[in-house]
Amino acid sequence: MLKYVDIKVTFSEIPNEISLCINISGCPNRCEGCHSPYLQEDTGEELTEEKLVNIIESNNGISCICFMGGDQAPHTIIKLARLVKVAYPELKTAWYSGKDVLSYCVKKSLQDFDYIKIGPYIKEKGPLTSKTTNQCLYAIHTFPNGVTSMLDITHLFWKYDREDS
Ligand code: SF4
Repeated sequence: MLKYVDIKVTFSEIPNEISLCINISGCPNRCEGCHSPYLQEDTGEELTEEKLVNIIESNNGISCICFMGGDQAPHTIIKLARLVKVAYPELKTAWYSGKDVLSYCVKKSLQDFDYIKIGPYIKEKGPLTSKTTNQCLYAIHTFPNGVTSMLDITHLFWKYDREDS
């Protein structure tokens, strides 16, 4: 069961988007120096399709739904992202995964996302805003024939040259 602990509207997680970020708990990744250890707990409220619709309907003005976590249930993340794509075609979908590589099921469902971030948090390398980061944010483009491409846009986080945020 996928659970979430809170939601936040931010301008920083996805460049040029007003993102409604849903912080998902039960993270299985156990990164050393984890910046949000509470997200490793099995806590919060179930993120059902109905709940997701309620969250979206309660937040006008957003441009993107960003799932923060969910590596324990990628099939559920894909299902929820697909719901957004079908019911709210004006919204983008994003997923922050802590995995190093995309699983087979995610690779087969790239068309359900506009952005995917991969990579665990490694304190010495820093987050996406650090030029030494190991993490990558990809923009996904889906062509009319269903073929997808992934473009690394991590550099968009570096325009202010912040290395410690
Ligand atoms: S992916 Fe994020 S929440 Fe999960 S262990 Fe790593 S830093 Fe913590």
